[in-house]
Amino acid sequence: MNNMPNPDAPPCGCKWFDRAAKDPAFPVVYDARMNEFHLITHDGRGQASFYHCPFCGGRAPKSLRATFFADVTDEESRRLFLLTQHILNKEQIIKELGEPHQDFEISGGMTSAGSDTEPKETFIGGRRLVYENLSDTADVNVRIDRYGKLRFSFTGKYIGPQRQTESGPQE
Ligand SMILES: [Zn+2]
Repeated sequence: MNNMPNPDAPPCGCKWFDRAAKDPAFPVVYDARMNEFHLITHDGRGQASFYHCPFCGGRAPKSLRATFFADVTDEESRRLFLLTQHILNKEQIIKELGEPHQDFEISGGMTSAGSDTEPKETFIGGRRLVYENLSDTADVNVRIDRYGKLRFSFTGKYIGPQRQTESGPQE
């Protein structure tokens, strides 16, 4: 049984998070945008969020993450899954979905989280495409590994405070 996080636990009252984030001896950082404390791995790359205070067991401060990203219903995820499940290569993506809004080259590796039905998977290099116009609530992400294999994921659109964008004509 997974009983983490426990929403009924009282909030942390011992201030361990504040102290740990300020103390360079602890691999803990504070993400003010999300109001989350993260545990940084030894190589400085991986991050995990705390649900509970490791000292008193109280709840970690409430994350704002849910208020920053749109909720994608199961129905919408299923619609997007059906829309993309037959797409097997990059040529087909462009033909069916058009040019992506974002197209990144990925330098490092990334391991997918895995789930009850999907094993963990490590991608090295490759590209990531993002389509923002296929859904009102979700961005469609396509990870293309260096062998050309595709992996789709649907993530809630950013609905938090406006990010800094260039404004006004530059010409
Ligand atoms: Zn505490």
